[in-house]
Amino acid sequence: MTVRPSDQPASQALFERARSVIPGGVSSPVRAFNAVGGTPRFIRSASGAWLTDADGNELVDLVGSWGPMLLGHAHPEVQAAVQAAVARGTSYGAPTEPELALGEEIVARTPVERVRFVSSGTEATMSALRLARGFTGREVVVKFAGCYHGHVDALLASAGSGLATFAVPGTPGVPASSTALTLVLPYNDRAAVTAAFAEHGDRIACLFTEAAPGNMGVVPPEPGFNAFLAETCRAHGALFVSDEVMTGFRASRQGYWGIDGAVEGWVPDLMTFGKVMGGGFPAAAFGGRADVMSMLAPEGPVYQAGTLSGNPVATTAGLATLQRATDEVYAHLDAVGTTLKDAVTTALTAAGVTHTIQSAGTMFSVFLCDGPVRDFAAASRTDSAAYAAFFHAMLDAGVYLPPSAYEAWFVSAAHDDRAVQVILDALPGAATAAA
Ligand code: PLP
Repeated sequence: MTVRPSDQPASQALFERARSVIPGGVSSPVRAFNAVGGTPRFIRSASGAWLTDADGNELVDLVGSWGPMLLGHAHPEVQAAVQAAVARGTSYGAPTEPELALGEEIVARTPVERVRFVSSGTEATMSALRLARGFTGREVVVKFAGCYHGHVDALLASAGSGLATFAVPGTPGVPASSTALTLVLPYNDRAAVTAAFAEHGDRIACLFTEAAPGNMGVVPPEPGFNAFLAETCRAHGALFVSDEVMTGFRASRQGYWGIDGAVEGWVPDLMTFGKVMGGGFPAAAFGGRADVMSMLAPEGPVYQAGTLSGNPVATTAGLATLQRATDEVYAHLDAVGTTLKDAVTTALTAAGVTHTIQSAGTMFSVFLCDGPVRDFAAASRTDSAAYAAFFHAMLDAGVYLPPSAYEAWFVSAAHDDRAVQVILDALPGAATAAA
């Protein structure tokens, strides 16, 4: 891929400085634009649906900090709640009322009976995995190719060769022993799940799945798939762990479970949350069945802890966000999403670009390949070079898309007609660039 020279001198200068002190110049790899080429924009400030970069460009934001910014940036009421919390002190290392109230809100919206707070989605899945192993007394974990559960060693695994074989490390630095108990299966593949449980069922502690995967682009579960997973786990005495770090309080008011589980009747044993429930701060959680959660220290023997867990500023931001995440907000996200999906289809079709748009509630993504995309192998067919051209044309026209072809597009309650119009105006040119 050719690296585009940056015509944004302030971002370029900051990036050059950053690369000497921070590997890749970024604190998380995908921010670096490696997948699309060019120099990442340094962001100076954000408000509503808009980002302002270091060169003073205003960009309509469809990344939303990779999901959290459901209400838009710098929501005045969330900001006021956070400022009041900061004035009361930022961390006490002791229980607080905001953490309790956020826990009650999560319990009210989802099927979890109890929750424990942590500071990142990775910590949530890592802790849920330990708890599932502690509860069942078993060690094997099943996951799906293309589902991302954070950078937990055991879950950062690639499929081994063949069906129902154990995984290999997904990155140097993960010992083979850390993934030797991880089975990686193709998504939406009931036969693979049945075969894995037939062979290893009495050793499987839990199965992890994204409630609706968003990390290989949006690949919704086929009807009944999550219910099938829950039932298979139950039949074998394994725990069903539904990762809603991305979909939680985003796909719908109750997360993806509200779309699928509440209808199909599946109930996860454990769930993981992050992103939206932190309101733009580092807060995440895992929760589930009361009997499983009671295995956690100090009630039970499974150790788990965190200096900043349940931080009062972060949980205040999360609570202020969820309290304002009303049915009207989700209806707005739906409406804006529908407008954007229609316009993307119109523009790409007119330019002759093969594409597939898939949704999970208010989340959606655009694959530049034919569909349906039901698993990671299919998602991998998306035309990354065409996406890079599309991405840069959108950026040049003032729209900040995820700098990777495998990410969901996130709209917010603050995406009003003016912001949407900028996107609509940008699409025909970007579609032509991708052709
Ligand atoms: N689980 C899912 C489904 C995610 O999308 C992510 C992050 O994108 C994580 C877990 C990890 O969360 P974090 O980046 O907060 O560690």
